Amino acid sequence: MTTPLTDRSSTLFLSPQDVAAMVRRVGVAKVLGGLADAIAQDFLRWPQFDKSARLASHSRDGVIELMPIADAHRYSFKYVNGHPKNTELGLSTVMAFGVLADVATGLPLLISELTLTTALRTAATSVLAARALARPGSRVMALIGNGAQSEFQALAFHHLMGIEEIRLYDIDPRATAKLVRNLGTNPDCAGLRLVVCSSTRAAVQGADIVTTVTADKTQATIICADMLEPGMHINGVGGDCPGKTELHPDVLRGSKVFVEYEPQTRVEGDLQQMEANFAVTELWQVLAGQQTGRDNAAQVTLFDSVGFAMEDFSALRYVHQLAQALRQGKGIALIPQLSDPKDLYQLIRPVARAAEHSRAASALEAFA
Ligand code: NAD
Repeated sequence: MTTPLTDRSSTLFLSPQDVAAMVRRVGVAKVLGGLADAIAQDFLRWPQFDKSARLASHSRDGVIELMPIADAHRYSFKYVNGHPKNTELGLSTVMAFGVLADVATGLPLLISELTLTTALRTAATSVLAARALARPGSRVMALIGNGAQSEFQALAFHHLMGIEEIRLYDIDPRATAKLVRNLGTNPDCAGLRLVVCSSTRAAVQGADIVTTVTADKTQATIICADMLEPGMHINGVGGDCPGKTELHPDVLRGSKVFVEYEPQTRVEGDLQQMEANFAVTELWQVLAGQQTGRDNAAQVTLFDSVGFAMEDFSALRYVHQLAQALRQGKGIALIPQLSDPKDLYQLIRPVARAAEHSRAASALEAFA
C-alpha cells in the first residue's frame, strides 16, 4: 500500500487490487450497504444533476460507452464496454474505469477501476429498487445468468433484502458451478440456500423476485409472460443495449415498469421494444415519495435496469471517501506540474531535453 496524495500535484489512483483490498477490509455486506446509501442519497437530489444518456459506440460484437454526469461540485465519467463474446477470449464481458473531478477547477481527483465497482454498484442499485418495489417479506429469488455480476446480486439481495433462497440457472452449467463454489461455503452467506435449477422456468416458479443478468447480444426471451406470478418483482439487469433484451414485450405489458433515466432506458432497456408512449416511472420519483411504487400485492413490478451515470458518480464518491479513510491507493502525476501555468512548453524546452540527453548519455557511459 502506498500513501495517497491529497494535494493538487496528484490524482488518487485505485486499481482493482486496491478496491478489492478495501472490500475485504470493510466487508462486502457493509460496502454494498454503503453504496446503496450513497446511490439513494444521490437519487434523492436528482434535480441537482446535469444528466444525459450515455454515448455509445456500437460494433458487431459489443459496445463501448462513455457515461458523464455532474452536480455543482463534482463531475464524473465512466468508460465501460459490453462484449458478451469476450469470455470466450478470456476477457470479461464488462470492463470499466472512471474519473471523479472537481467542477470548480476541472482537476481530476480520482481515477479508479470500475469493473469490480460496477458489479457492486449494480447490485446495490438492484436492491434499492427492490426495497421500494418488491413485496415486503420477499424471501426467494431466481437468479438467471450466473456470470461475473451474479455473486454480487446474490450477496446484495441476501444481506440488504433478506433473501434466504436463490434459485440458479445459466445455459452454461460451469457458470452456475462457479457461483456455488464462490458462495456455497462462504461465511458471508450463512443462512443463504442455493438451489441449482434445470431451466429458467423451473428457477422462476414460486420466486418472489426474478433477477435476469444474462449477456447475449440479441433480442433474447429469458422471461415470457406465462412465467409471471402475481406479486413478482423482476429485476431486469442484462437487457441494457439496443438489440440486447431479455424480456418478452408481454412481460412489460403485464408489469408496472420502473426505470433509472427514461431517455436512456427508452433506447437501451427492455423498454426499447415498446411503443414510445408506453408508461414508465423513474425510480427517483418513487424514492422521493413523488410517485407510488407497487400499487397492490398482486401487481407485477419490473425494474428495467440499464445502469445510469449517477450510480457510478455515487460509487466513485463512495470509493474515494473510503480510500482516503483507509489510506488506500497511490497518487499519480496525471496532470503536469508547472512553475508557471501559462508555460506548458517548459516540459519540452530544449534546455531541459539537452540536460536529459546528457544525463542519459552519462548513464550509458557509466553502464559501459
Ligand atoms: P457474463 O458474460 O460474465 O455472464 C453472463 C452469463 O449469462 C453467462 O454465464 C451466460 O452463459 C449467461 N447466459 C447467456 N444467455 C443466457 C440464457 N439465455 N439463459 C441463461 N443464462 C444465459 O456477464 P456479466 O458481467 O455477468 O453481465 C451480465 C449482463 O449484465 C450483461 O448483459 C451486462 O451488459 C449487464 N450489466 C448490466 C448492468 C446494469 O447496470 N444494468 C451493469 C453491469 C452489467
